[in-house]
Parts: sequence; structure tokens; C-alpha cells
Amino acid sequence: MKIVMCASEVVPFAKTGGLADVAGALPLALEKEGQEIIIVMPKYKAVDEKKFNLKRLKNDISCSTLGKNIKVYFIEKEIYFNRESLYGDKTGDYPDNLDRFSYYSRRTLELLKEINFKADIIHVHDWQACLIPVYLKTLYAQDSFFKNTRSILTIHNIGYQGLFPKEEFPKLGLDWSLFGMEGLEFYGKVNILKGGMLFADIINTVSPTYSKEIQTKEFGFGLEGVLNKRRNSVFGILNGLDYTIWNPETDKFIAGNFSARNLAGKSKDKKDLQSFCKLPVREDVPLFGVVSRLAEQKGFDILAEGIDTICSMDLQMVILGTGDIKYHEIMEEMVKKHPRVISLHLKFDDPLAHKIYAGSDLFLMPSKYEPCGLGQLISLRYATVPLVFKTGGLADTVSSDNGFIFDRYSKDALIKIIAEAVKTFHNKTKWPALLNKAIKGDFSWGESAKKYLDLYARAKKSAISSGCSEKAACCRRK
Ligand code: ADP
Repeated sequence: MKIVMCASEVVPFAKTGGLADVAGALPLALEKEGQEIIIVMPKYKAVDEKKFNLKRLKNDISCSTLGKNIKVYFIEKEIYFNRESLYGDKTGDYPDNLDRFSYYSRRTLELLKEINFKADIIHVHDWQACLIPVYLKTLYAQDSFFKNTRSILTIHNIGYQGLFPKEEFPKLGLDWSLFGMEGLEFYGKVNILKGGMLFADIINTVSPTYSKEIQTKEFGFGLEGVLNKRRNSVFGILNGLDYTIWNPETDKFIAGNFSARNLAGKSKDKKDLQSFCKLPVREDVPLFGVVSRLAEQKGFDILAEGIDTICSMDLQMVILGTGDIKYHEIMEEMVKKHPRVISLHLKFDDPLAHKIYAGSDLFLMPSKYEPCGLGQLISLRYATVPLVFKTGGLADTVSSDNGFIFDRYSKDALIKIIAEAVKTFHNKTKWPALLNKAIKGDFSWGESAKKYLDLYARAKKSAISSGCSEKAACCRRK
């Protein structure tokens, strides 16, 4: 099959979160399955031209390679993408994000024609790429080049929808008839994710549980009705991990390499992390790691409420991440109050993340909702026992066999399960059993990539069945 992967961030070129991990690793797994794949993404300032040996193809297109022979095309546009960050700065999202990502979407489709890549599947990720399925069924509906092309949308987090004022709708080049309840309108605004959900041939999300949750009012962020209408085209496939990047046997960032057969190196990693973080170097204290956005979604509301009590237990905690200033400040206060317990790193730092995954005993991830979550998968791979809230992908990957899981979202329940984890850490039979179970789980991409191939095959076969897709002809730009 000929597949195009479209995402606004892709490892190893640019990353702010799990989307990039998936968009970088899934193509590699599909290539191993014998598929022909290309990737198209924006060329941000952060993309290191030298390191990735970017070659110029056209005025505004350069190219690199991933895996054996996956071509990665970068769309350049100085005024849109040559900026410090991917999506916004300290003041919030960039105000021209609609211009930026509608440009990316249109340019991607034109590029496919220019390089004559007749795709079977265009696989788009999150709202930033959602205009691609919209354009395929509107502006390009009569274009024979795309006659056999089907699209699939992966929703990594339905909380991020790409909402813009109604006044910006004309920038999309679509007919006003598409700005309605049955189209891209959402409470008076333009909703780009909704567009993708209406026009993609198949929709999936990144875990089976989350695919069901988002069809409910509690988790759907207002889009549950749209998903409900398309429920026969909604699927859930668990993300995998790139086991070459996340491998405790070969990881260059950690002090002691180790494996499921021999965990000895892990205590070296703990010592290394404790000294790096200027915490007391003690083997007999459970060390909790956190690598996360500091956001309510990630459980920082209940963690912030309970942190003072948690810090009074005999444990240590290393937190790496950035996010809401409110949580930065609360955690900074806690560091002042409990300097021998908490170590805080308010930044994005990949090498330090590796050290934390390897050197911690437990990984704290009490997300309020979690589409899939990669942190718990990485921690399992590094024999670091996850402690999670029972939701989405966390519920699909963690159980009392390989970690700690609580099912009532509250500060008290969090404190209780942390206390239980601390107690278990000191249990000489239970703890090694838990570690063993954790590191032996298989969350590599193999199985998930096969499930994506099944989904692609289904998209190829499916006569288009979504509400708006059926009406694509009438929605076409006049
Ligand atoms: P998200 O919702 O943020 O995408 P995921 O758990 O799916 O959450 O993926 C987060 C990814 O980003 C993981 O690979 C995690 O290790 C990484 N990450 C998050 N914050 C940081 C940080 N501050 N520094 C380094 N890596 C980070």
C-alpha cells in the first residue's frame, strides 16, 4: 500500500508530546511490514537541517529519510513555520494557527501531485492535519489524481480541536454551506477537528477504552454527537513504543544499562538520578518519577492538592515538565518546603526524561483522562512501576499485576494509593514480582501496526459512509 503520514510533529525531527512519538514510530513499523510510506510535515526552526541531512527538492520543499527508505518531506514557509516554537509562545497559541495549518494541508495535497505519489491512504493526525480529509472531499473531490485515495484520522486528544472565530472561515476556501451544524461550525466557531471527523473515511483513536469514552458527554468535549453519528467508523488502536529509542539495554542517556534478565544496572540509575537531582542518595526510599505536561488533564489538580501530604511520606519525587504557571508555582513552593523530597525541572529535556524513566522506582501518572499515554509504557519498559488513574489507555495497559491503579478521581484516593505503593516498595516478595511483570510486558509497535493495516484495508474497501462525506459533492466549492 502507498501511505502518506501527515502530522504536525514527528520524532526525531520535532516533538512536543506523544503525537510526535507515534508519527515517527508507526511509519517505521509499517515499513517493516513492507508498505511504501512517506511523511509530510512543516519545516520548523527546530528541525536541524545538518543533523538530518535535509536535501532541497524545490523552492519550498526539502527532504530527509527515516528508517530504510521513508522519505520525509518538509514544507517550508518562512512566515509561518520559522519560529521558536511549534504552536505558540508564552502568551498562548500563535494567533495565525489557522493560516499556518490550512497552508500546510493545502500544500501537502499539491505536493503529492507534484511528486506523483498516488496514495492509497492519507493518514492524518490531530486537528493540525484535519483539513486534508476536508479538502479531499471538497476542493479536490473531482480531481482524478485522488480518485483512489482514502483518508484516516487519528485523534490523539479530543480536547485539542483547533477552534477559531467564524470570521476566519473564508480563509479555508470552502463554501459557506459547510459552516453549519452539519459542517465545521461549533457553537459559532470554526472547529477544524470536527471537519476531520466528518470527512475522514475512518476515525480512530489511540486506545480501545478512549475510543469508547469520547463517545460520551463526559469525555467528548462536545464532539460526542458527531462521533456517535459515525460510530461504525470509529476504532481504537493502542499506541506502541519505539523499542529502539526506549531500550534500557542500549540507552545512552542512562548511567547503568539493564534488561529483564538482569536488572542490576537500575540501582546505578537511581543513584545517578538522586545525585543529579541533589536528593539524598538512598536505596531504601521509593523514588517517584513524573515526566509530563503540568496540566489538569495530567492529574496536576489532585496532585497539587495532595502534594504537601504526599511529601510528608518517606519518599522522593522528581518532576520534569512544563505547563500551567499555576502548577509551576505550587510545585516551586513545595520544593522550598521539602527540598530533600522533591526535585523540580521546569523544562523539556529528553536526556533527563530517559534518566527519570530508568532511575525511578515508580512512575506517577494520575491523568484525569488519557487517550493512550506513553509515559506509563516507557516506564514499564524501564521496570519502573506505573501508578495511574483508571482511564483511557492507562486502563488498557496498567493493572494491579504490573502497577497501581485507582478508580476514584480525588486527592484522597491518590494519597491512599501512593501510601499503598510506598508500603509495597518495602515488601521483599511483592516488589520484585511487580518489577518483573512490568518489564516483561510487550508494548512494541508490531501488533498495533498490523491493526492499522487492517484499518487501512477497511478504509480502502469502505464506500464512504459519513454524513458529510456522502454529501461531499453538494459541499464542493462552487
Ligand atoms: P501527551 O499527552 O503530552 O502527548 P504522552 O504520555 O502521550 O502525553 O506523551 C508524552 C511524551 O512526551 C512522552 O514521550 C514523554 O516522555 C515526553 N515528554 C513529556 N514532557 C516532557 C519533558 N518535559 N521533557 C522530555 N520529554 C517529555
